[in-house]
Formats: sequence, structure tokens, C-alpha cells
Amino acid sequence: MSISVELCTYPGLDDRIVIVRAGDEVDGVFVRTERFNVLIDTLGTPELCQSALDLLEKKTGKRPLVVVNSHMDWDHFWGNAAIAGKASIVAHAAALERLHDPSALQVLRDKAKEDARFQNVELVGPDITFAGSMSIHGGDLTLELIHTPGHTPDHIAVWIPEVRVCLAVDAVEYPIPEVWSRNSDDLRMLYASLRRIHDLNAEFVIPAHGRTFSPSMVGKNLSYFEGLASRVAALSETQLADPVLSEKSGCRLQDFVPIPDDMPDHLVKFYEQCHATNLGATLQAQVEGTKLE
Ligand SMILES: [Zn+2]
Repeated sequence: MSISVELCTYPGLDDRIVIVRAGDEVDGVFVRTERFNVLIDTLGTPELCQSALDLLEKKTGKRPLVVVNSHMDWDHFWGNAAIAGKASIVAHAAALERLHDPSALQVLRDKAKEDARFQNVELVGPDITFAGSMSIHGGDLTLELIHTPGHTPDHIAVWIPEVRVCLAVDAVEYPIPEVWSRNSDDLRMLYASLRRIHDLNAEFVIPAHGRTFSPSMVGKNLSYFEGLASRVAALSETQLADPVLSEKSGCRLQDFVPIPDDMPDHLVKFYEQCHATNLGATLQAQVEGTKLE
């Protein structure tokens, strides 16, 4: 598969913020401040990241570059090798645990078998990590890195208060975000992260997938999880024990969110899997008798 990088924007978005789009795979974001250039995410390969850096060159001037990894999912950080020697990479401390887990290398081996463009990928970790939150003071713009776990344990969103822009990465997603596991703790964390992003009262909420920018997407994601919880609460014991509940009428993805007719099949399948995990975590919460908040 060959993917090219383009620079994009959304109507009304401050021109210091640029969407760095790698086809349908992922969107990174570039932010130009008085003191630094900041790149949030390095895309899925060093080649894609390098072509993003080449495209951005005209916009970068002489300011130093700071790179942020939103989380250690392959499509967001496998481009890190293109940054080595050029900038420091910042991530949440939990990113290191994920990077050092044997599954990180296994994902790379599996994907390299599927697609030759991943064969030269080398796992490069962050240089600077933090726990809780951290701010990058650019002078005219501040980038607040907010730990927003739930999609993954290491996930961070970026809030730029001066322009009321939230880079929500994978915590918010059209049509639905995906919880880390079927464990109800992860579900509660994702819901709390969505609430936290909702309460920022942003003018733009920009996820890394799905090409949306309206803050209304956060409310839709919250309603989806609330809808799942109330549907599950009304199920019988027999239904709760159904191993393929997410395929049963009333519990399918399209019973909770509209899926457009023109969404490609592989994407529908992907979001059906996300939905099955989300439903699994909701079932666990129901069995334990715990609530979303
Ligand atoms: Zn992603």
C-alpha cells in the first residue's frame, strides 16, 4: 500500500495549526509557536514522517522542533526514527511500559509480514516522559499535554487554551473510539477522559482518525457509551452470557451509531471489532455492578 502525506486544515482553524495527513491512516498535527515548532505524532513509518518534515520545512523557520508521541499505537509513533538527532520526543511515562512489552515488537513483526513498507521500521522510544500532565510554553501558544487513558494506558490529548483547540487524538473518534480492553476499569477511564475533553469547552476537537473537528463528536461518543450501558442493564442473564452479543439485533454497532453507506467494508469491520470490545467492557461493568462514573 502506498500512502502520501499532505498538509490540511479545517474551516476557521488557526493557521499556526496544520493537520499532517497520511492518507486514510492517521492525522498528525503540527503547531507553530513563537518559540518552538511542535509535531504531535510521527505517523506510521519514518518515510512518512520524513515527507511530513519536508512538507513542513517552509513553515518551520529557525525554531527548534519538539515532538510529542500521543501514545504507542503503531500509526502514531513508528515514524520516530526520522526524528532521531533532530528533536526530543516527549510522551507519557506509561508509553515506556508499552514500548518495552514484548507485544510491541510482535505487532511490528506481524505488520512487516503484511506490508513491505513496515520492514525498515525501528522502534524508537521517547526521550522525555512525564506523569500526570505537562505544558509546553511556546510564548503565544501553550500546549497542555493531558493524560487521557482508556483508549490506551499512555494516551495523551493536547489542549491549546489560547485558541480553544483540543487535539483529542484517539480518545475521541468518529464513529466510535475503542477501549483498551474488556476490563471495566479501562472503560471507566475512557469515559472519564471523554468527560474531561468535553469539559474543556473547546471550539475545535481534532481526532487523529475520521476527519472531524466539531466538539459535538465528544458528546456523541459519550452518548454512545451511555447507550451501551443502558442497553446492557436491560438484558436478561441469558443474553448477558451470549458470546456474540455484539452481532445480535439491538446490540450491534449500527443500533447505537449511524454508519454511512459509503464507509468502506474494512472500516466497518474495524469499528465492529471496536464495538465488540466496548460492549465486552460494558458487560463486565454490568456484572460487577459498577457505573460509568
Ligand atoms: Zn490511532
